[in-house]
Amino acid sequence: MEKSLLTPIQYLKGIGPKRAKSFSKLGINTIEDLLYYFPRRYEDRTKFISISKLQEGQTYTIKAQVKALGERQSFRRRGFSIIEVAVGDSTGKIFCVWFNQPYLKEYFKVGLTLILYGRIERYAGRLQMNSPEFEIVSSKSDESLSIGRITPIYSLPQGITQRYFRKLVKSALDEYLPEINDFLPFDIRSRNNLLNLAISLINIHFPDNLDMQNEAYRRLSFEEFFLFQLPLALRKLKKKEKTGISHKVDGELINAFIEGLTFRLTLAQERVIEEIKSDMAKPHAMQRLLQGDVGSGKTVVATIATLIAIQGGHQAAFMVPTEILARQHYSVVSRQVLGVRDDIKIGLLISSINKKEKEKIYKEIKEGKVDLVIGTHALIEESVKFKHLGLIVIDEQHKFGVGQRALLPAKGTNPDVLIMTATPIPRTLAITLYGDLDVSIINELPPGRLAIKTMQFSEKNKSQAYEIAKAQLRQGSQAYIVYPVIEESYALDILGAKKMYNQLKSGEFKEFKLGLIHGRLKQSEQDEIMLKFKQKELEVLVSTTVLEVGIDIANATCMIVESAERFGLSQLHQLRGRVGRGRQESFCILICDAETPQAKVRLAAMLKYNDGFRIAEEDLKIRGPGEFFGRRQSGLSELRIANPLTQMQLLKKAREEAGKLI
Ligand code: ADP
Ligand code: MG
Repeated sequence: MEKSLLTPIQYLKGIGPKRAKSFSKLGINTIEDLLYYFPRRYEDRTKFISISKLQEGQTYTIKAQVKALGERQSFRRRGFSIIEVAVGDSTGKIFCVWFNQPYLKEYFKVGLTLILYGRIERYAGRLQMNSPEFEIVSSKSDESLSIGRITPIYSLPQGITQRYFRKLVKSALDEYLPEINDFLPFDIRSRNNLLNLAISLINIHFPDNLDMQNEAYRRLSFEEFFLFQLPLALRKLKKKEKTGISHKVDGELINAFIEGLTFRLTLAQERVIEEIKSDMAKPHAMQRLLQGDVGSGKTVVATIATLIAIQGGHQAAFMVPTEILARQHYSVVSRQVLGVRDDIKIGLLISSINKKEKEKIYKEIKEGKVDLVIGTHALIEESVKFKHLGLIVIDEQHKFGVGQRALLPAKGTNPDVLIMTATPIPRTLAITLYGDLDVSIINELPPGRLAIKTMQFSEKNKSQAYEIAKAQLRQGSQAYIVYPVIEESYALDILGAKKMYNQLKSGEFKEFKLGLIHGRLKQSEQDEIMLKFKQKELEVLVSTTVLEVGIDIANATCMIVESAERFGLSQLHQLRGRVGRGRQESFCILICDAETPQAKVRLAAMLKYNDGFRIAEEDLKIRGPGEFFGRRQSGLSELRIANPLTQMQLLKKAREEAGKLI
């Protein structure tokens, strides 16, 4: 039988239905997905450092045996467990310490050999490794993939070990590599000095040396840029051929709407509206990216754009990433619009409405009875057909893939497109990435916003932070408490959030109604909890990082971020944007004992700046562009490893090649 990279991974040895399911959660369904699941980092395990040579403040990989283990309660904090494992090699001994993860002790037994990766700190006069990542070395199995080489480290959920995953990747490489056709034409490869696909895939997972890893990285990045640029190049070509809609931009409706608002537009909003108007009036399709800090008021600008389309007799679609956000926009926009003109028909399209309602709205959209439809991904389903779609708005665009973004415009004939984001991307970069996209920026917050009070408390003084939150709650406000998730062990961290939720519920926050939300819940369950919070049935929301984008709940005035040192700066800023949305004073409380210098700088920046663009700049300085454009936070969620900031040259080349090919 011929082997295809699209073969489901169940066909690999050692993957049953249960494993397949947890892989599916990682987005790995086929052999190809597996091979394109790249390491998060590498460890040079060709030689290990001796324990006697470890120095404070440095991060190392060591190989050592478990000598003794113990668990104790923290003196300072009740119910807070500490696991200590003494490990040693022929040169000495060191303690490894894990905080509040009692379940870890199941893993360790005296005599086991471990590989540990972590930072050396001094505590009570002795050196120790705090919360290291670890791998258990098994004497039986073949360790050639894990030891004595440059070893890949992947982001994996609990239950999937690094060793197992490496083996799996290796067997997929061995079995399927002969089937791999390089889809990049030979001349493009040779012009740009790129390795072929097979060699690149081997070396991105199991590099012979760092140079080869680098070359593999270069080739795979090029490939990503290339695939990213192809549809753009295509679109550009098409756009030249076809014209768009010339909208009627002036009319009573817009003025009446603006007059009907309970606030005055900011100058920045007015300027951006003018830019949008001038685009929409032209007989070509608008492609505009609207950037604006959290809370800068992008929604109302987008709403005005939809009204421009509607007053000329067109339909508009407004797509957002979550159901709760769709509901939020639907109710706000309906109230604002219907207050001015009650003959405008607004529809809500989300997956969770029942079939009958869905059929009904499909029909109304198709017959042109709905003027504006607000919804989620449900909008791009095949059954959704518009009569005359004139404008598309995509909110929080970084939450959608390129593919998803492209599907909606295909439902009209060259409709205008407005995409919005709160993640600032430097202008030159935005243009290189998105081709001919025009960029508008709202660089001003609505007046009267009180600056969010950002504060920092140490773990030790945490109860003071809780007191601030409780004081807010007693006045009828609401609060969020956020826990971090580390990629490689998010199962453990959800356990952490759950545990804290239970503790807080029966302890510190006994008198309040608490809810828990995390990424393992179904979308509909998450939405339900958010709705309860919005309707004030819940007063405190304990959450992992899933805390939704775009949520506008003015009554929430307090955000507590636990272990704040584990968040990136932009991420902290986005989280902080969930409060300070009303006229009440708001608080963002960062709880942490910043240990690393970087964490200190990050927290200092949070305390100092409130402006998202400023924060983004600082973030770039601190973390370097690589992490800043990390897959999860950037607008470039489809790029797995390529980094537009550090690989600008490569991106340009890929763009040229894509243009040539088309
Ligand atoms: P974002 O840009 O983060 O999407 P929103 O559109 O959700 O921000 O707006 C945040 C809040 O500010 C909303 O409650 C909105 O009604 C309000 N708002 C928007 N523009 C203004 C303005 N010019 N003056 C006062 N409040 C405004
Ligand atoms: Mg928004």
